[in-house]
Amino acid sequence: MTNPLLENNVLPAFSEIKPEHVEPALNQVLEQAKQTVENLLKHQDQPTWQSLVLPMEALDATIDKVWSPVSHLNSVMNSDELRVAYNACLPKLSQFGTELGQNEDLYKAYNALATSPVYEQLDIAQKKVIDNALRDFRLSGVELSQTDRDKFKQISQQLTELTAKFEENLMDATHAWKKHITDEALLSGLPDSTKAMAAQFAQRDELEGWLFTLDFPSYMPVMSYADDRVFREEMYTAFATKASDQGPHAGQWDNTEIMADILKLRHELAQLIGFANHAERSLATKMAQSPRQVLDFLSDLADRSKPIAEREFTELKVYAKEQNPEISELEAWDVTYYAEKLRQQRYSISQEELKPYFPENKVVSGLFGVVNRLYGLDIKERNDMDVWHKDVRFFDIFDGKGELRGQFYLDLYARNHKRGGAWMDECHVRRQTEAGIQTPVAFLTCNFSEPLGDKPALFSHDEVTTLFHEFGHGLHHMLTKIHHAGVSGINGVAWDAVELPSQFMENWAWEREALDLISGHFETGEVLPQDLFDKMIAARNFQSAMIMVRQLEFSLFDFRLHLEFNPEQENQVDKILAEVRDQVAVVKPPKFNRFAHSFSHIFAGGYAAGYYSYKWAEVLSADAFSKFEENGIFDRATGLAFLESILEQGGSREPMELFIEFRGREPEIDALLRHSGIAA
Ligand code: ZN
Repeated sequence: MTNPLLENNVLPAFSEIKPEHVEPALNQVLEQAKQTVENLLKHQDQPTWQSLVLPMEALDATIDKVWSPVSHLNSVMNSDELRVAYNACLPKLSQFGTELGQNEDLYKAYNALATSPVYEQLDIAQKKVIDNALRDFRLSGVELSQTDRDKFKQISQQLTELTAKFEENLMDATHAWKKHITDEALLSGLPDSTKAMAAQFAQRDELEGWLFTLDFPSYMPVMSYADDRVFREEMYTAFATKASDQGPHAGQWDNTEIMADILKLRHELAQLIGFANHAERSLATKMAQSPRQVLDFLSDLADRSKPIAEREFTELKVYAKEQNPEISELEAWDVTYYAEKLRQQRYSISQEELKPYFPENKVVSGLFGVVNRLYGLDIKERNDMDVWHKDVRFFDIFDGKGELRGQFYLDLYARNHKRGGAWMDECHVRRQTEAGIQTPVAFLTCNFSEPLGDKPALFSHDEVTTLFHEFGHGLHHMLTKIHHAGVSGINGVAWDAVELPSQFMENWAWEREALDLISGHFETGEVLPQDLFDKMIAARNFQSAMIMVRQLEFSLFDFRLHLEFNPEQENQVDKILAEVRDQVAVVKPPKFNRFAHSFSHIFAGGYAAGYYSYKWAEVLSADAFSKFEENGIFDRATGLAFLESILEQGGSREPMELFIEFRGREPEIDALLRHSGIAA
């Protein structure tokens, strides 16, 4: 039997990969990798880049070649069988990773290379790879006693399994809940597009009427437009209690204990390698210098935003009361609904009105037009690729010289068995191989509204902005010119700087000149009319302080949770969340709200004690964009400077150094405050 995961194809043969291929393929590459390391270490009397680092890089690439498509499929085409195979591999990978990180001989070899004259002759990127490797050896516990090393390994393994379980619970809980409606009166207020989507969902399940799910394109319109307060409450309750001890599926996919265990184990692991807590451990690889600096940064933003957010919320309460005197208390399931009404009254604009101007093909080709004007890139679709679902598209990126710089898969729509949210992930990284440069390949995944009937998919402006965001990550990954995998693209980039290119790209979704490229009415082709554009801009900072304090609530909660964790105390999740809400929140959610139980960024993703990175990097991205505001948003010279100083450099140099090279000075917070409408 041939195994498609082990075949020598350039890109994964997605249609052929079956769950039964996963474990044997991984076993085989891990076995080979162990052998490689063993053989390698026999010849390291005087380690060089070629003798040590290159083979280690190749070893990583061999494992990635198997694992990257598997973990991607587990996220976007999940099934019971694949999940079993995936989970069976996690402990093996974790164990291999820790053993490699704790391999003393390997550590010594890297050390010998770092202190030899050879090191001085290496380029900046190569030096950074070696410095990072030494740092990561220490963070893997290489300097610990054997007993502690074993403990480290065991905890790492448990954490890998727990975080996967967290994500599984969330996916199952999200897809388990559905609301079937046969009485059209309940749909009052909902836009036609939402009703059509709900009808399409019902048909798919062979039901009459309409079906709503907790996927964002189905959930959000109900919160924004459904006049029926009970319907909103029911759906809000299901959404806000996913994977918890509350709500319609209370206790069924409950993440409570998993979260407590994750926190406890992260704390133990951090202490084992000499940090006081996981927050300090997290900062060891970030741009921010100390917990104090992070807390001060967030608190400063909170102090500036909260008074404005309170004013915004008071206005909303007054407005809701005027609209409906029977509402004695503005509940969590009323906030979005009345906010949308107030926005429409004040600016006479709604997300719905904009949608016809953002059909998929226009948005996607317009986005390519934007990066063509900025960086001279040409992006071309290919239809001959093996993909995992019929809706997935594939593209090549060429630069102005005709060189193939990157390739990406684009998977835009929400569907069952697909993890929620939007993200960019690596399929291949750019690196020098014996056969030449390996072209970087990205997975761009979103959960947008699908096409309805025979209309094209029509995106909300929020969705357009999200696409720009993820594409920014993709460009960072694909346009790198660094040849060493450890610091090419997003690799080795401090996590709190990694959102710079993504948040930076969002800005173009708000510019007239760019909107001329990305908008075109799906029936008439007409670009976004000026009056709608003016309204959209006027409404841009509507309730922006409320949004800001919400982000700060997440950031502070995450950071304090990992900073103040105390193994002696029970249930710190609720306690710290309550304290943070007292400090920054203006909308107090109901007692049953269990938002933390679906906060997968910090419990399953890489953002633990790092959610603040969004705001931190936004200072950088807003300030970087302000240079385009000064020089022209399509100024090619400024575009190329950003390309060369930031996007191409990957993690080869410190983010502060790169930023200064581009901006000519250190970052300033003014642009962020101005863009968010909270400047003094
Ligand atoms: Zn991002």
